[in-house]
Amino acid sequence: MTTITNHLPTAELQKLDAAHHMHPFTANGELAEKGARIITRAKGVTLTDSEGNEILDAMAGLWCVNIGYGRDELADVAARQMRELPYYNTFFQTTHTPAIALAAKIAELAPGDLNHVFFAGSGSEANDTNIRMVRHYWALKGKPTKSIIISRKNAYHGSSVGSGSLGGMSAMHEQGGLPIPDIHHIDQPHWWSEGGDSNPEEFGLARAQELEKAILELGEDRVAAFIAEPVQGAGGVVIPPATYWPEIQRICDKYEILLIADEVICGFGRTGNWFGSETMGITPHIMTIAKGLSSGYAPIGGSIVCDEVAEVIGGGEFNHGYTYSGHPVAAAVALENLRILEEENVIGHVRDVAAPYLKEKWEALADHPLVGEAKIIGMMGSIALTPNKATRAAFAADAGTVGYICRERCFANNLVMRHVGDRMIISPPLVMTTEEIDLLIERATKSLDECYATLQEQDLLK
Ligand SMILES: *Cc1c(COP(=O)(O)O)cnc(C)c1O
Repeated sequence: MTTITNHLPTAELQKLDAAHHMHPFTANGELAEKGARIITRAKGVTLTDSEGNEILDAMAGLWCVNIGYGRDELADVAARQMRELPYYNTFFQTTHTPAIALAAKIAELAPGDLNHVFFAGSGSEANDTNIRMVRHYWALKGKPTKSIIISRKNAYHGSSVGSGSLGGMSAMHEQGGLPIPDIHHIDQPHWWSEGGDSNPEEFGLARAQELEKAILELGEDRVAAFIAEPVQGAGGVVIPPATYWPEIQRICDKYEILLIADEVICGFGRTGNWFGSETMGITPHIMTIAKGLSSGYAPIGGSIVCDEVAEVIGGGEFNHGYTYSGHPVAAAVALENLRILEEENVIGHVRDVAAPYLKEKWEALADHPLVGEAKIIGMMGSIALTPNKATRAAFAADAGTVGYICRERCFANNLVMRHVGDRMIISPPLVMTTEEIDLLIERATKSLDECYATLQEQDLLK
């Protein structure tokens, strides 16, 4: 049996990596200088690197390892499925048991009449499906001019040409000719950095009303859908003011705009309910899912579609699909993941134990001299680093300079905490215990202290 072991010294592996492996979303200059961090194994909430460091993973990989690492049940299911039926497609009127069972299970878990699943290999692919599906839906309804999808600046919906266009990341739009036509971006409900003198509630309402303004400007007969994450993840864990989502729902209802909730991060327990839409009290027509669907153990995503849209789309042939739509091994792994989430009451653990405990400790970080606000919902949180809490000022240094320093201190203290600009974010495995939360806070605090000292030394505290 071939096994991939850490058979070479770290420096050798890093050299090969730099020579042959092109990394996604990586500062390549810095990478070449110091070499990539090599993760060799993981168990529970802890990663081990090639130097033997044990690192607390407060990001659950990339927001996805909801049940934690090292669950043998998923490995066993994958091996069994590979032996029985490693691959077959779901095109041309065929199907297989894992895809059927997973679709039925997702339909059972999803709220309301979200009863139909179109599978993809990832969140990006699922959002590409959504672009085509909502436009095709309106065409079939005799309204082919309804093709514009409204999204938000600083949203993240994936990295393919379609999903990257839906997203509102300007750094992504700058490369490769994005966005595609008929995607329109409105402002985000990010009070800390854009709220000025308004209070969060007024601001949330005003930002939601930008959707109505956009619909009226573009024309009701031109707008197909609005897409948003219930809580923005990659944009910096931006939790919208309470006034935001009810107003968005009102506007979508009033103008008959399809609402797509991108649940790739929020779905499967992260906010303390099965779906972020439930936490926010909204009723989307389509949900994008991926990441936590399989806890990252296998690549799989999809769109959960309401009865009405599924019925219209199902009236003819939808000329769309991926070789790996409903891949049997990935579907079997996802199904086992959902079984564990349900039978071990992982979401109950989030709601009743982990999230309340983490919230208390996390919000207390706002007392740190470097931290302006500390926000958290369920198991996703962020802190804003600032030289002046009262004015919510940004640092004089380029955005991200301080965040990067803080992230490097976290790594040095065996904690994975990401930075988005000068905001630090966490999204730990949902199974995290209170002892592990204590460790997370201890390492985060130490890292913030060290970052603060570095800023003082380097005269960056301004
Ligand atoms: C990660 C993410 C995606 C893209 O998923 P991939 O599996 O990386 O393609 C889409 N939407 C949101 C909200 C995400 O966080």
